[in-house]
Amino acid sequence: MEGWAKELGVGGDRAGMLPVVEDSLLGAVGRLVADVYASHVGLAERAAALAGAAERAGDGQCVLLARLVAAELDNRAGRAPEGVTVARHVLSSSEDRLVRAHAHAVIAGGLWRLGDNATAVRHALWATRMLADGDPLPLRADHAIILAVQVNDRRLGDFSAEEFVVAQELADASGLPTLIIANLNNWAWCSYAAGDIDAAGELTGRLRDFAAASGQALNASTADTVANVLLETGRAGEAERVIRYAIEHAPSTDSDAVPGALLTLAEIQRRGGDLGTALSTLQRCRVLAAERHLPENDAQALRMIASCHAEAGDFAAAYRSMVEFHEAWEGRRTQQGDMAARFAHAQFAVEEAYRASEHFREMAERDSLTGLWNRRRSDAVLAEVLASGEPASVALVDLDHFKRVNDTFSHAVGDEVLRRLADLLNGVPGHAGRLGGEEFVLILRAGPDEAARMCELLRAEIEAYGWGDIVAGLRVTASIGVTGVLPGDDRGVVVGRADALLYDAKHAGRNRVTTG
Ligand code: GH3
Ligand code: MG
Ligand code: MG
Repeated sequence: MEGWAKELGVGGDRAGMLPVVEDSLLGAVGRLVADVYASHVGLAERAAALAGAAERAGDGQCVLLARLVAAELDNRAGRAPEGVTVARHVLSSSEDRLVRAHAHAVIAGGLWRLGDNATAVRHALWATRMLADGDPLPLRADHAIILAVQVNDRRLGDFSAEEFVVAQELADASGLPTLIIANLNNWAWCSYAAGDIDAAGELTGRLRDFAAASGQALNASTADTVANVLLETGRAGEAERVIRYAIEHAPSTDSDAVPGALLTLAEIQRRGGDLGTALSTLQRCRVLAAERHLPENDAQALRMIASCHAEAGDFAAAYRSMVEFHEAWEGRRTQQGDMAARFAHAQFAVEEAYRASEHFREMAERDSLTGLWNRRRSDAVLAEVLASGEPASVALVDLDHFKRVNDTFSHAVGDEVLRRLADLLNGVPGHAGRLGGEEFVLILRAGPDEAARMCELLRAEIEAYGWGDIVAGLRVTASIGVTGVLPGDDRGVVVGRADALLYDAKHAGRNRVTTG
């Protein structure tokens, strides 16, 4: 087992009978994506550990995929504005196809939870379209599952199974029980919501059989689906057992799963004529809804409280609850406004952090006196240029008798000369860096002849510049050695050749360009 695999506690027989898919960091990402559907216990820590392991392995793709899993956890924990913002940021900063596809999937999930279904579906479509045969199956299945549920949510009753069939094939192929169960659950729920109780019953049956056979515990939302279908098919006793499991024991993947299950329990109790118990269940639901900021669940609870009171013949209490329900329903709208505001705020904060980090990264690669790129950056640019195999030239520029400038005038004047020289170097089309002291490098995307012409222009410009503005009588010239990059050159060879040419220019009398 590789080091990171041990560190993440994966690669072994963690759950006994689950297939081992983590033969790589990407495999571990797939497992994490699948486990988001099962339980959120410990997942944030696993995502962080995976991001760290990927970082140490230099695997930028898996670093970002692990961050996207963390963003999806935010989406499901009632922090969709934050989750979507992080995913949007990843989308705009990465060119990796898998990363971009998964960012679309996470954005789709977050926007869907924020109620922007139309935009969510567009992202879900991109998430599936951008993946192809041969890409990791957990990701392909995850994206197909998201698309299926969102497309059918949009259809509002005009239900179609095609997307669920595709998602089920991919989930089955992934061999991951959590994905298989997640899609069956969504498929069953959409069938149920569309009024096709037979299909819903068949699907929940399949789901329960599969869960039992694979040893996979149902999460609270899935148990809620099963209980609702059981209730509709007249099996209230069984429905109550399942929903009590959802409330008391099931792992939870969304902050509204248990409040939702309490609503189902209250419905079972109401239908059973046990209005008093239903009312106390609904109070429990309201407490949780308040704690977790879920005005939608609170409103649903109030509406049911009103019907319970009405059924019990207490019309005054029913009326009061309806008034409260309307207030809560309005509050739900206000919360959507709050979400939009938090969304804008999170977006702003992430962009600021990004700008700051870009700024600091750039500062570390800049020379503080002149603002030119420093040697580290110039070395990196030269390595890139050498690797590209495209025509390029390297020039070394060294001021003539610069020591005399310092000695005759002052060190401050010398510094000002270096700053102004930087302006002139920046006027040359190409990379300009300060190697140290009064020595500079130009990396030009041009062959040796064109580069020599550019250097001659620069030399003439330096000679003709109005240095006398700094201090009367100041004159500055530079010597330049320039050479074209030859096949097989490494950094040392090409810079060495430019340096030898610069030395020639000095010995030939300075204030000149030597090329070779
Ligand atoms: P040559 O024409 O042979 O290049 O002569 P030179 O005097 O320019 O070369 P030399 O290497 O002898 O001296 C370089 C001088 O550059 C020495 C140092 O005082 C000056 N220098 C290096 N860095 C800085 C700086 O940051 N600011 C100032 N003002 N001077 C610097
Ligand atoms: Mg010099
Ligand atoms: Mg020098």
